[in-house]
Amino acid sequence: MSTKEDLAYIESKIRNIPDFPEKGIQFKDITTLLSDAKALRLTTQHLFNGIANSKPDVIVGLESRGFLFGTNLAEKLGVSFVPVRKSGKLPYKTLAQAYGLEYGTDKIEIHVDAISKGDRVIIHDDLLATGGTAKAATQLVEALGAKVIAYSFIIELDALGGRKSLPSESEIYSLIHY
Ligand code: AMP
Repeated sequence: MSTKEDLAYIESKIRNIPDFPEKGIQFKDITTLLSDAKALRLTTQHLFNGIANSKPDVIVGLESRGFLFGTNLAEKLGVSFVPVRKSGKLPYKTLAQAYGLEYGTDKIEIHVDAISKGDRVIIHDDLLATGGTAKAATQLVEALGAKVIAYSFIIELDALGGRKSLPSESEIYSLIHY
């Protein structure tokens, strides 16, 4: 199958839930994609293809849906996986960063020893909306002396302009655009 057909298949398995978790939000539910074996395989394959030549040292996955494919991408690339989690979840010493969401505000954290100075990092999440979460994760990575070389998302909500808040020199790979 062509890439176009693959992406159309993946898109067909993303369920739109209007007004969740708040009125006015079109929530992109990927549980329907995960439960379809073919969509799961194609999503993994195309996320991998996007970043395969980037030569990262680390994949940083954002809680929680960024963990679903992030660990698998790290394993396929032969590099480490580092979780960025919501405040209070990580047990060791952390760095924290506050950020704004499409709905509400929050704080994310990373373990202080999870990334080394000079590491080349790819940040992965299921969806790029306003870019607040990915930007905060970028600030954490940079505070540890590493560099974000690329971003990987399954879905990008183009109208929210999230990519404008990310460093212009970094590549942004999104499979599906709404
Ligand atoms: P943002 O920081 O605005 O780019 O929001 C991205 C984060 O919020 C991701 O971790 C997404 O999982 C979640 N998110 C934001 N908007 C949506 C949406 N419309 N559907 C599903 N998840 C969303």
